[in-house]
Amino acid sequence: MAPRRVLIVGGVAGGASCAARLRRLDEDADIVMFERGPHISFANCGLPYYIGGVIEKRSKLLVQTPERFEGRFRVETRTETEVTRIDRENREVEFRGPDGVTSREPYDYLVLAPGAEPIKPPLPGVDLPGIFTLRNVPDTDRIVDYVEKNAPQKAVIVGGGYIGLEMAENLHHRGVEVAVVEMLPQVMSVMDPEMAQILHEHLHHNEIATWLGDAVSRFDRENGRLSVTLESGDRLPADMVILAVGVKPDVRLARDAGLKTGETGGIKVDEHMRTSDERIFAVGDAVEVTDLVTGKPAVIPLAGPATRQGRIAADNICGRDSTYKGTQGTAIVKVFELAAATTGANERTLKREGIPYDEIHIHPASHAGYYPHSFQMAVKALFRSDDGRLLGVQIIGPSGVDKRIDVLATALRAGMTVFDLEDLELAYAPPYGAAKDPVNMVGFVASNVLKGDMKARQWDEIDLPKEADEVLVDVRTRREWDRGHVEGAVNIPVDEIRERLDELPKDKAVIAYCAVGFRAYVACRILTQKGFDCSNMSGGWRSFRAVYPEKAVGADPRDMFAELQEKFCSTPTSEAHEE
Ligand code: FAD
Repeated sequence: MAPRRVLIVGGVAGGASCAARLRRLDEDADIVMFERGPHISFANCGLPYYIGGVIEKRSKLLVQTPERFEGRFRVETRTETEVTRIDRENREVEFRGPDGVTSREPYDYLVLAPGAEPIKPPLPGVDLPGIFTLRNVPDTDRIVDYVEKNAPQKAVIVGGGYIGLEMAENLHHRGVEVAVVEMLPQVMSVMDPEMAQILHEHLHHNEIATWLGDAVSRFDRENGRLSVTLESGDRLPADMVILAVGVKPDVRLARDAGLKTGETGGIKVDEHMRTSDERIFAVGDAVEVTDLVTGKPAVIPLAGPATRQGRIAADNICGRDSTYKGTQGTAIVKVFELAAATTGANERTLKREGIPYDEIHIHPASHAGYYPHSFQMAVKALFRSDDGRLLGVQIIGPSGVDKRIDVLATALRAGMTVFDLEDLELAYAPPYGAAKDPVNMVGFVASNVLKGDMKARQWDEIDLPKEADEVLVDVRTRREWDRGHVEGAVNIPVDEIRERLDELPKDKAVIAYCAVGFRAYVACRILTQKGFDCSNMSGGWRSFRAVYPEKAVGADPRDMFAELQEKFCSTPTSEAHEE
């Protein structure tokens, strides 16, 4: 029997992992991998850090070279070669090589791993010099070259997703003054607003100016200087602009060949990663996947799913029945000193899909508080209100975030409930964790809510100024109260509450809050047992203050926000730039 001949379009995450797996399963197959760019298997995820100088050597980005890949896997690797057409009838692809000559190659199986392309909004001036998108090594080289030649002082990042935030941090690291413009009212749209607000404050703390809820309307360049005009009319001076407004699946080849695409715009595949043509598979950012929580079609461009899908396509080509079971969007991003991580659905998605849920906010320590460098993290967990199944988690904090999100992502994938989280036995010693790990704490607190031991009121359900039939009690210390509190609340520290019960009305609902929720829980248990109708304000003062600064008496984070905007616009850009 003739060896099977597999052609792969795209030589990075999905394509290269598919090629390597194919070879491991079939030593005789003819495997050819086409890559339009000059590099295969490069570290897309490392590009911002090379631009920032954190990764010092460019060569570190090139995880594999075509020579090494061919040597190890005997995969014919054709770089600077673009596949331009699929001839499904004759099972051939047409491609243009580095010399510009067009040729054809036959296949038994074809794997499409063309990735996604950065969205370039059709705005006036979007193609001006000094405006960049970032997807691959050549894009990176262009940005680094521009930065080195022009020594920019100001950069505007358009888009507050993870690539935008990574670029903000890395350009700041190079000494550039950075502003982030985001059309939505928050950065990191995969997170809920009260969590994103923690990032806003942290960006401001690191001198990154933000324009939220405002979109770019045009770019101009006068006398070698760029300016970015927003829909609000604000005009931002810039020496360079990074467009990071998202990506869209690259489906051109698939669509031209008549392969089905889904409602989200990605290539439609079955659980074996097979397209509507049984000889053609597709993987990675280009495909539509099933959202693990909602069961709905989704496009979730991440490296982990791409490589796993590449492997699954290879398995199936080689006759193994392996299936892809959906994407849950587990992701983590570094934002200066914080890590922000998510898995599963956010609240917006659950509301949209009509999935019944409860939520908790907790702020446990990354490890035992008495051991050095222990930091609080903010955890938001969403779970089904009927059976307690975990639906989504968001965590932000300086340390220990990666470990907790991965445990919770695993629990979510396994279909575990919050009751199961109470039972998890996790590694503990003071430098690494706590005897009650944050993961267990999610289980304890969420179970309390479901069992009715703790009535929770969400920070966004509290209608201020407080309603006549409710009283808001701040159970923190007097000192904490003096530094800032919710407008209209009264202060009764938790340790005094037993002696001061007569200050609280029994005919009104009592909403207790503390910094993060634990002391308020203790207060609620006391009050409930004494006949009060008490609920705990989930997320506590931290979440509330973050989202309702105007209703928080004390420091207003918006002052810093306005100050940074003003500073960004009032200081000059550098000298005129090279075109
Ligand atoms: P890609 O890796 O993009 O590979 C597709 C390749 O196909 C491209 O090189 C392209 O040139 C080639 N190609 C396209 N069409 C053709 C054609 N017709 N002929 C020949 N070749 C073609 N994900 C994470 O999970 N974590 C992160 O921290 C993270 N950080 C990122 C940072 C940046 C700056 C970027 C750009 C992406 C990041 N990602 C991250 C996303 C991750 O890189 C992608 O999800 C992943 O690379 C997708 O793999 P893929 O194989 O589908 O596409």
